[in-house]
Amino acid sequence: MAVEFPASVWRESLGQPLMSRPSLAGDLQVDVAIIGAGYTGLWTAYYLKQKSPSLKVAVLEADSAGYGASGRNGGWLMGSFVGDSHYLAGYQGEAFQQIKQAIQSPITEIEQFLIRHDVDCDFIHSGNYQVAARYPEQLDSLTSTLATLYQQGFDESDYQWLQGSALDDAIKLRRGQAAIFTPHCATIHPLKLVRGLAKVVENLGVTLYEQTRVSAFGKGIVQTAQGQVKADIIVPALEGYQGQVSQLGRYTLPVQSLLIATAPLSDRQWQHIGLESRATYSDAARQVTYGQRSKDNRMIFGARGGYRFGGQVQTEFNLQSPDFAWRAKLMHDLFPSLKTVPITHGWGGTLAMARKFAPHAIFDKRNGIALAGGYGGEGVGAANLFGRTLSDLILERDTPLSRMPWAHLSEIKQVLTPWEPEPFRWLTYQLINKVFSWEERLCLQSNPSRLQKRIAIQLAQRLDSLMH
Ligand SMILES: Cc1cc2nc3c(=O)[nH]c(=O)nc-3n(C[C@H](O)[C@H](O)[C@H](O)COP(=O)(O)OP(=O)(O)OC[C@H]3O[C@@H](n4cnc5c(N)ncnc54)[C@H](O)[C@@H]3O)c2cc1C
Repeated sequence: MAVEFPASVWRESLGQPLMSRPSLAGDLQVDVAIIGAGYTGLWTAYYLKQKSPSLKVAVLEADSAGYGASGRNGGWLMGSFVGDSHYLAGYQGEAFQQIKQAIQSPITEIEQFLIRHDVDCDFIHSGNYQVAARYPEQLDSLTSTLATLYQQGFDESDYQWLQGSALDDAIKLRRGQAAIFTPHCATIHPLKLVRGLAKVVENLGVTLYEQTRVSAFGKGIVQTAQGQVKADIIVPALEGYQGQVSQLGRYTLPVQSLLIATAPLSDRQWQHIGLESRATYSDAARQVTYGQRSKDNRMIFGARGGYRFGGQVQTEFNLQSPDFAWRAKLMHDLFPSLKTVPITHGWGGTLAMARKFAPHAIFDKRNGIALAGGYGGEGVGAANLFGRTLSDLILERDTPLSRMPWAHLSEIKQVLTPWEPEPFRWLTYQLINKVFSWEERLCLQSNPSRLQKRIAIQLAQRLDSLMH
């Protein structure tokens, strides 16, 4: 049966029809039941079967593998993640290096996986540019970002300063002043990765049930309309959808992120932009703006997020909506030569922020729940690392990963902090958004009130530091 999948450039360029796997048909008993066939659920299944082939593992997916953020994202496969500095803090020497290597490991780990299992996801290991371009204050902020990274223990092999012709050769943003380049990022086609991963996991003996929505789960039991699944361990790999299924949603804030894609550009058009290596890039602003040059030569561009009251998830998006026009304006400001290029696709998805602004991997053995997530907008690589960590925790293996500071053998409530209830969640999100937009508006003005600008920057810095 063909699957209804959200329209996106990834869906269109997948190059194969999306066929649904069978749904659950009756009751089932397994060792591990995983809810959600995104990167987290599938990497957890993959490593569990690699390490313990006899384990009986089932994945229950409401729609089809990759329907969530994993099939919709911007395709940055990063060797870093939101809040990684939180886990590196206080470590030095060998211990620091071990944690750093683990954080950076998803790129080579996934590259080796792709080679071993012959999965093509347009992978290219070209790094990332974080560029100060739109207003002078971005240069100060970029300078202090690099200083902080070096203070933390990173060096020039991790993050380099780029200016002048070196920057211009790499990427030409209007008014580009300087950039931080890191090699720790690869560019991928996210839907190809998640669909390829699903097939590999299936070949290892994991059963994937699609069109099988979980309505609830409790200790040892998962409820669906098609039957009950009994399992020793349940892995709710639901990220932005967590609140729709269980109380665990109080630990994550679901946030929408939106992307646009242009029609493929000619080589001549790309000469005005650069990105010959297909590296990813972002604008050094507090409100994230990010992009990549796809393998079929489109500009894929995303910016900002939005939180809907009550943590509602959004799955359908309309290219004609002002949300996309606003992103196009931002893209055209950075790359004026794109103004004449049609925007062919606009889509979005839901990611999740943890209250401590850092992801986690927890095995709550007493309640039979294993949980990983809270990646914010940086989960493509992190889901591999946290799925790998979770598999060691579930199998109760004492490994370097199970000893990482994000790995917990503990009750969930002892590790995670819940978000404030509504309306405080919504109000806090609005406040942060408003302050960040205010700061940016003043920084973009040619002659703003100096007092207002100083207050806005200090307030934004204060809020930003609370989130890191
Ligand atoms: C627009 C966008 C751009 C992003 N860009 C990047 C990027 O460039 N780089 C990066 O590192 N990160 C990025 N992210 C974040 C990254 O995509 C996510 O962190 C990552 O995909 C999370 O994977 P996951 O498996 O935990 O969750 P998901 O991929 O969301 O998987 C959850 C799955 O659960 C299923 N499900 C939901 N409800 C039920 C139910 N009741 N029963 C059964 N199944 C259910 C869903 O259908 C879904 O398949 C982006 C996210 C978005 C939305």
